[in-house]
Amino acid sequence: MSDYDPDLRRDTPLTRKLKERIGRDGPISVADYMDACLNDPEHGYYRTQAAIGAQGDFITAPEISQVFGELIGLWCVIVWQQMGSPKPFNLIELGPGRGTLIRDALRAAKVVPGFQDAALVHLVESNAVLREVQRERLAEDGLQATWHGSLFKVEGAQDTGFGTKLAMPEIPTIIIGNEFIDTRLIHQYVKCDDGWHERLVATDDQFRLAFSMTQEGKRGAGDLVTRFPETPIGEVAERAGAMGDLTMPMREIATTQPLAALFIDYGHVHSSVGDTLQAVRNHAHEHPLTSPGEADVTAQVDFAQFARDMQKQDFVADGPVTQAEFLGQLGIMERTSRLMAGNPRKAAALEAGIARLMAPQGMGGRFKAIGIRSAGLPGLPGFEQ
Ligand code: SAH
Repeated sequence: MSDYDPDLRRDTPLTRKLKERIGRDGPISVADYMDACLNDPEHGYYRTQAAIGAQGDFITAPEISQVFGELIGLWCVIVWQQMGSPKPFNLIELGPGRGTLIRDALRAAKVVPGFQDAALVHLVESNAVLREVQRERLAEDGLQATWHGSLFKVEGAQDTGFGTKLAMPEIPTIIIGNEFIDTRLIHQYVKCDDGWHERLVATDDQFRLAFSMTQEGKRGAGDLVTRFPETPIGEVAERAGAMGDLTMPMREIATTQPLAALFIDYGHVHSSVGDTLQAVRNHAHEHPLTSPGEADVTAQVDFAQFARDMQKQDFVADGPVTQAEFLGQLGIMERTSRLMAGNPRKAAALEAGIARLMAPQGMGGRFKAIGIRSAGLPGLPGFEQ
């Protein structure tokens, strides 16, 4: 982020809205800034942009190779069988993007009779443009699904304040999410000589968006003080905000039903200090304050903290392991060789795709997979030691 050129800051509609808000209410936290960038009802990136794919801002694993979604489909089949092949069960995908993963997964899962008939497919998607893409692409394969804006259905909001209820039936449930939990909002803290201060987004003397920080050392920094006592002055540490709209509905299902979930994302296995806030637009990185609402602003997932948050809700965490280890354990090499032998004309493309998913310095090493399960279930596939 150090190579950030302030003159590149663009005056997007959301920039103007944020400056007005900061002028009125004062500087905002990094979490509030991310929330506006991603979820602002008028200008938020996930409300408006069709971002993924070669034409979009970034490319994801299922768009690189069909084998990725197919292996996740087989993962779901094994987990379903471990649950005793319940019928019906919920198969929930969080943030399905262009619908490629779920299509590849369901096609591969056809090898096991009964799975598709038993699956009630739920797609949780906040982006109206992508929801349409998903609808069209599932229809091409004759697949049925139900769409939801979140795992919660907001009910009776006016009389109870915030009444919520599960958006899907309480039956055995499998959840998958690729590049979904990196949309978790984070707070950032800066180490100063008098302690940790929360990093804020404010306006500078030329009325441009700029980082600043709280005057007072911040209580919210909490255990950063004890966890990272030796941090040098000027270093940034991050803490993910509450994730109640994910953990609470998962908890609610798991109170009465077996639940297993798989999350794959860009992130680190151990908590540490460092600034990972990033913005991607048009396949290029830019400073996170450059184009609010028009770039994908995310932070690396702190998998250790994610696992702790899930354990607090009585879930067991398997992993995290690297994406390469996870796909390797699910048999990516064997499956790809078979596909290549059966389809020599596509062999080179298949091989190139797999190389990209598995590259130790690229996606294979940087992305991690974590399994989350209710305590009654056996260890999840792909995470065996
Ligand atoms: N899983 C897909 C897309 C990843 S991008 C793939 O691997 O290609 C993140 C996805 O999550 C997008 O579909 C985005 O619109 C969706 N999303 C982001 N925040 C969301 C939220 N709070 N609720 C529901 N969907 C969300």
